[in-house]
Amino acid sequence: MTRKFNFSAGPAGLPEEVLAQAQQELLDWHGKGLSIMEMSHRSDEFVSVAEQAEQDLRDLMGISSAYKVLFLQGGATSQFSMIPMNLLRGKTNADYINTGIWSKKAIKEAARYCDVSIAGSSEGNGNIAVPTQAELKLNPDAAYLHYTPNETIGGLEYDYIPESGDVPLVADLSSTILSRQLDVDKFGLIYAGAQKNIGPAGLTVVIVREDLLGSVVAGTPTMFDYKVHADADSMCNTPPTFGWYLAGLVFKWLKAQGGVAAMEKANQRKQAKLYAAIDASDFYANPMAVANRSWMNVPFTLADDALDALFLQQAEEAGLLNLQGHRSVGGMRASIYNAVPEAAVDALISFMQQFEKQHA
Ligand SMILES: *Cc1c(COP(=O)(O)O)cnc(C)c1O
Repeated sequence: MTRKFNFSAGPAGLPEEVLAQAQQELLDWHGKGLSIMEMSHRSDEFVSVAEQAEQDLRDLMGISSAYKVLFLQGGATSQFSMIPMNLLRGKTNADYINTGIWSKKAIKEAARYCDVSIAGSSEGNGNIAVPTQAELKLNPDAAYLHYTPNETIGGLEYDYIPESGDVPLVADLSSTILSRQLDVDKFGLIYAGAQKNIGPAGLTVVIVREDLLGSVVAGTPTMFDYKVHADADSMCNTPPTFGWYLAGLVFKWLKAQGGVAAMEKANQRKQAKLYAAIDASDFYANPMAVANRSWMNVPFTLADDALDALFLQQAEEAGLLNLQGHRSVGGMRASIYNAVPEAAVDALISFMQQFEKQHA
């Protein structure tokens, strides 16, 4: 068996050590004679796995007791609805910053529940630079301010945390959670689909300040009420137990790597060398403003897009998988999440250099 280097944007690669441990525990978890997937979510065994995963995430991110950590289903996309349903709290307006495809989807869904004000947008510059704090037009009466710290498809990442005063700040951290240090206390709510930087698809993590809970818009389904989940420790119904367990293994792995500070250092190095290789060449290009280049998702184009298919084919033959850009933008995209080792980035860079030599 040879595992290849996987640059998938999501579901993304998982740490090999985590997969090996899951494989080893698959048939017989801790001598109990059954797998974790076959266990009641209310058993002492599973509850201890669930609680440990939450504690490890709290430790990794420095999440205080003022926040609830929820392990939900429905993906980040369900959060596009749950956020207005839960955080409007009687208000009729919410502020959103538009920096690309994921922001737009969040905005479209929120508009079903409230008046959305676009507090800032990068549309005017073709989504290559985020609006600055000074450019934001914030409504002090907004129920919350929503933004997308990392646009996974465009490869656009904020280099600052928007300051929203007393208005709770809401962040879609799906593709950047745990990749670098973050002051959670600046946020009212953080959410992330697991399948990029946490674990397998099917699990969604929500970190929400407890004082924001308790008021939902009329007609909100029970399963879309954060307080219901918070009061039941995310077990008001059957949670995604296997995803939760695997996320717990990833959190332990992150701690063993030295935590988020160590990941930040590694991710800083990985992205710096990949962008440097792109910039050093006239054959490859990335259009983003340097300060807003995503650390996790690195899109790039070839000087001649007629070579795209050959690039992808030869990359795959070289053991470099899933480099095709999103169908909406084309070109290439290398997603280099926490679980993508630096050796994968090194291999990609030398492949790119060889390909350029042959075809430039
Ligand atoms: C992948 C992604 C989503 C969608 O996540 P699902 O879990 O598939 O709903 C939303 N926002 C961002 C920033 C993403 O990267």
